[in-house]
Amino acid sequence: MSLEPDCGAHHVPTPVARPEVIDWYPETDWARPLRMWAYTCPCRPVYYELCQEGGKFFIQRFVTDKRGRLQVHETAHEVYAFMIVLWERLRAGQAQ
Ligand SMILES: [Zn+2]
Repeated sequence: MSLEPDCGAHHVPTPVARPEVIDWYPETDWARPLRMWAYTCPCRPVYYELCQEGGKFFIQRFVTDKRGRLQVHETAHEVYAFMIVLWERLRAGQAQ
């Protein structure tokens, strides 16, 4: 049960007991052209975006640290069929 208020948008639930562990890497380039396909609500300290760059897809993770700075990491870049499965597992709390 979450004690945080529900703003009505999609939030990533508390992960299951043994979630798949996603490999996160430093964000590669702020200036590149990206297309965002989906996102989780940014009202939480950790939120995610499903992005496309060229023909590859990846997930970005945004974390606000204790000093209020936004830390951005991303997954490896993969084909859509792979990344949409990981995105749905993340949204279900089965991957983190
Ligand atoms: Zn929210």
